[in-house]
Amino acid sequence: AAFTKDDIRQMAKDEDVKFLRLMFTDLFGTIKNVEVPISQLGKLLDNKLMFDGSSIDGFVRIEESDMYLYPDLSTWMIFPWSTERGKIARVICEVYTPDGKPFEGDPRNNLIRVLADMRKAGFTDFNIGPEPEFFLFKMDENGKPTTELNDKGSYFDMAPMDLGENCRREIVLTLEEMGFDVEAAHHEVAPGQHEIDFKYADALAAADNIQTFKLVVKTIARKYGLYATFMPKPLAGINGSGMHLNMSLFHDKGNAFYDEKGNMQLSEDAFHFLGGLLKHARSFTAICNPIVNSYKRLVPGYEAPVYVAWSGSNRSPLIRVPSSRGLSTRLELRSVDPAANPYLAIAAVLEAGLDGLRNKLAPQEAVDRNIYRMDAEERQENHITNLPDTLHNALKDLAADEVMRNAMGHHLYQSFIEAKNLEYNSYRTQVSEWERDQYLELY
Ligand code: ADP
Ligand code: MG
Ligand code: MG
Ligand code: MG
Ligand code: MG
Repeated sequence: AAFTKDDIRQMAKDEDVKFLRLMFTDLFGTIKNVEVPISQLGKLLDNKLMFDGSSIDGFVRIEESDMYLYPDLSTWMIFPWSTERGKIARVICEVYTPDGKPFEGDPRNNLIRVLADMRKAGFTDFNIGPEPEFFLFKMDENGKPTTELNDKGSYFDMAPMDLGENCRREIVLTLEEMGFDVEAAHHEVAPGQHEIDFKYADALAAADNIQTFKLVVKTIARKYGLYATFMPKPLAGINGSGMHLNMSLFHDKGNAFYDEKGNMQLSEDAFHFLGGLLKHARSFTAICNPIVNSYKRLVPGYEAPVYVAWSGSNRSPLIRVPSSRGLSTRLELRSVDPAANPYLAIAAVLEAGLDGLRNKLAPQEAVDRNIYRMDAEERQENHITNLPDTLHNALKDLAADEVMRNAMGHHLYQSFIEAKNLEYNSYRTQVSEWERDQYLELY
């Protein structure tokens, strides 16, 4: 909603808000909070609130640690749950440097920058409809998550199988109280796994929504003694959690991907955008699937994509064109997982699509057969390549693609590569239970 400073002062007073939670997101997609008492509201609204950025991952060096939080007034929201000390309001902020410039290490600022490029290209909105999945695990008596799932249900199961149902219902109600337009909520294929879909929004609002969504899911799950995790593949042998991104570009005249007379009723723009997504798919994988564990999900046999291909009818490829047309004409990217920083992931796919538009890239032929039944030769004939199979290989693909590096901006890219190489090396030097099981007695 579009709020003025006066609206916000009034709402804070009417609702007797006691604390302000100022939110922003670090490089890894983690929500950071600075909580201040309501007495600081005036300072906040005047963009005068300072914080120390040196302890934030991917932010700055000690010597340049003073940062300012500029509130995005449209994100003002009073949490429906209150504490003993009164109500808490949150507002999502942009991080600014002391000389009044948007800080380049702030992923949200980066998305704002890429959206400005999109406007220059003649579009008004990049609409994103996410489908986040998550697992509910039981917690132990110390409030630590276990690996024990809370139910044995599966896709679209009804109670009493679906024990997470009450919890999920309260999540949905809370989201609705917070202004979310929830379109669907259902049990997923794996036991203990759920999906909640909410209505698409323009890129920035959609990324903010994803962050708020995660916070709500985790908060409500705790009330039920459950731990909600967005880790992409918490358990081997069952499906992992994805976060499909449905996307469309809008211009003044509506959905730019729709053309009643076009091939498949899609516009030229839609095909070029699709061409860009396919071209850069391997290099944005490190951004959309940013952790070691992401690559345990991107394997055959569990409904997650493995190959770079698209289809209008088949649900298994990387990119699907859902059958809806008109306003709902969209592309669905199925590789993204909920460990992705939504601001970075959305900036990356938008930049990939814009590159397709600029260079009039044509997508390869659609593949309407089951790719998993093709052998390597058939895949080659159909121009189907593989997504990177490890974080290490994904980082190499990202490093080789200037367009995708630019989608992050220099500051974020440098911090990302550095941190992710450390992460991969730390993983690589571990010796796992699997290895001991396989080899200890054999050699
Ligand atoms: P699936 O069939 O893959 O399970 P869902 O029905 O779960 O898809 O989710 C579809 C998502 O696409 C929703 O978030 C919806 O709001 C979104 N969506 C609908 N139209 C558009 C559009 N034009 N652009 C982007 N997202 C859209
Ligand atoms: Mg869905
Ligand atoms: Mg659906
Ligand atoms: Mg799903
Ligand atoms: Mg989907």
